[in-house]
Amino acid sequence: MNQDTKDLIDRVFDEGSRGASQPREVIIALLELDSASEEVAYLRERAAEMAHLATNNSASISGAIGVDLCSCDMNCKFCSFGTAWGLVEEDVIYSKAEIIELVREYVEAGVTTITLRSTEFYDLNVLSEWLADIREAVPGSYLINLNVGEMSPAMAEAAYQAGATSAYHVVRMREGIDTPFDVSLRWQTIDAISNSPLRWITCVEPLGIEHTNEEIADRILENLAHRPYGMSVMARVNVPGTPFEGVEPISEERMLHLLATLRLSVGTKVRTCGMHPAVPAALYSGGSNFTVERGANPRDTTFNEEVWRGFTVAEARALIEEAGFECRSESPDPRFPVDGKMWWKVGDPADYVMPDPTGPCCGRHE
Ligand code: SF4
Repeated sequence: MNQDTKDLIDRVFDEGSRGASQPREVIIALLELDSASEEVAYLRERAAEMAHLATNNSASISGAIGVDLCSCDMNCKFCSFGTAWGLVEEDVIYSKAEIIELVREYVEAGVTTITLRSTEFYDLNVLSEWLADIREAVPGSYLINLNVGEMSPAMAEAAYQAGATSAYHVVRMREGIDTPFDVSLRWQTIDAISNSPLRWITCVEPLGIEHTNEEIADRILENLAHRPYGMSVMARVNVPGTPFEGVEPISEERMLHLLATLRLSVGTKVRTCGMHPAVPAALYSGGSNFTVERGANPRDTTFNEEVWRGFTVAEARALIEEAGFECRSESPDPRFPVDGKMWWKVGDPADYVMPDPTGPCCGRHE
């Protein structure tokens, strides 16, 4: 192994474990290594150590529920829901009762986080109204993460007060080129989340073979500047029928290299990192969370009545324990204590004022 590279990786680990992140040139130097080399094998090993350190040895499972399979006029080039690709033949939308049942199944199976994911134009106010019903019907210390459209600060606050604990939002790779979005609008939503009581979860995605080391390093650093709680990497699934049909996908080996670089470069500033789609090796390369998916999925053309690609909560849990993590949230929300006591029974519900959830956003919520 090249000694200078080994020394660099050790220094990055040491600085990261003390809360420092790395400058652009170091991130690029790590990304430039050969993904199949022994240096990257060592990078992944040290990233796994960092994952255990940053999470207090915890790894979480998110149970995602795609609440609506609908064509979406935004036509992001990588998304199977784009109206222009004509892949959505029939709209399928989960009812509140169905979502509650799916949450119950996930929680009983042992997920630590429920992710409610919608297309860009699903009404967040409706989803927020359902949160209290979900919490009441399915007690527990699980977290609720929202992966929805644009949000104003008032909407982020309202979602938190209704029982959400985090929100996922991303400035996608080549946002504004492969998507029609105004990049500043995406950052505006991210700031609304990051400045609210919600934890902001993000990702470097969707990654393809065309993305350069410089673009990836810049996205990691831009994200870091907005204070994420969690940051992951996600490969683009080149869905047949979308403009990326037939494009060679990024390799699993390269994705594990990207995950390890991310985990070490951000150090303990970021609580949890992961990789999607899930592979067991991620838990040995800096990953400390898995996502299991059901329902609508922008990486698929069918509504998944069962879990996507057959990856179950039980399998995720077994892999997590085998890798030496405890399957639990790395940081529970004090409103949802592990003894199951409900937060609205701790205080008077009247103390929780629902702000007016309108305000400057993308316009679809008005
Ligand atoms: S990624 Fe989101 S905004 Fe883009 S087409 Fe898909 S659902 Fe619509």
